[in-house]
Amino acid sequence: MILESKIIGILGGGQLGRMSALAAARLGFRAHIYCPEKDCPASQVTDLFTCSAYEDTSALEAFARQVDVITYEFENIPLETVRFLQKFKPVYPDDRLLEVSQDRLKEKKFLNDIGIPTAPWVPCTQADDIRKTLADWNMSECIVKTARFGYDGKGQVYHKANSSIEETWSKLNTQSAVIEGIVDFACEVSVIVGRDRLGQTAAYPAVLNEHQNHILSKTHAPAPISKKLAIKASDMAHNLAEAVDLIGVMALELFVTRDEQILANEIAPRTHNSGHWTIDACAVSQFEQHIRTVCGLPVGMPDMHSPATMINLIGEDVKNLPRYLEMPNACVHLYGKQDVKPGRKMGHVTLLNR
Ligand code: AMP
Repeated sequence: MILESKIIGILGGGQLGRMSALAAARLGFRAHIYCPEKDCPASQVTDLFTCSAYEDTSALEAFARQVDVITYEFENIPLETVRFLQKFKPVYPDDRLLEVSQDRLKEKKFLNDIGIPTAPWVPCTQADDIRKTLADWNMSECIVKTARFGYDGKGQVYHKANSSIEETWSKLNTQSAVIEGIVDFACEVSVIVGRDRLGQTAAYPAVLNEHQNHILSKTHAPAPISKKLAIKASDMAHNLAEAVDLIGVMALELFVTRDEQILANEIAPRTHNSGHWTIDACAVSQFEQHIRTVCGLPVGMPDMHSPATMINLIGEDVKNLPRYLEMPNACVHLYGKQDVKPGRKMGHVTLLNR
């Protein structure tokens, strides 16, 4: 059988788009990248590229007419862009999941409504809401996060005991935020799940994530947690995928508390940094899973054939490359970014732990 050739339109040109385009090529498909920045990591690996703003409706329409299906590689794509594109071609995951994951208030309400617990939370529109919530909870500390456009710890303030509530609120520089109780977590884990057009789901094993300065630094696959907890985490991801009628791949970030509860922190409606190890340690990577599911193919097997540790190369970390290149179990991935900047994800290394 020869697969019908497809062109997959990808909104966003970062490393997730790059690795998705490479996975598409493996299946004989082509990726068309749409991104406002020139020479982005994804555009370097495919010859189909539109460089234009997400608000440019004529460029968006021309792009949509040239592709068979559309997806995105980051969640801060304007909702209106996706809704506009949906008039021409299917966009997966659809605008409903995107809308929920773009707004922490909607996201937490949605998760709680389908029975997935989170940290306690309250909407916040002014400094007084923080004062009142701390009094109600009988707490002196909390985390306040902007409702929209937060990532890698940006858009959030850890409000410490005895610090100024007014200062915490003004640092956020927003009209809409969420106040969260501080979770005394034992570890942070995530589950990546894919779901195809027939509703078949496949979840990768739960992995443990370590952060530095709020940026993912290492992922351990599988997570060293009990089987019971791993199943619970996986069940949550499956339930969420069903509830949002997912077509594509998404990640669910979770806290494991010291008393062995699992609380959801965030949904990423796309492939995720904590799933990069799947390229080297699974038969079907998260990127291939994403391409398969948005193209109407069945989900592939998510099982790992080797335990793995993924190390992000952030900023100057990329200087350690010669050391990794000499390690026989290290799979090196670079994203084609020319300028090294603090906090910038330059590449990653997957160590196969056999
Ligand atoms: P987020 O932007 O929500 O993904 O948060 C970034 C990081 O901040 C998480 O990976 C946690 O390490 C920490 N964090 C976020 N929310 C909480 C919370 N409610 N309690 C404790 N730590 C948190």
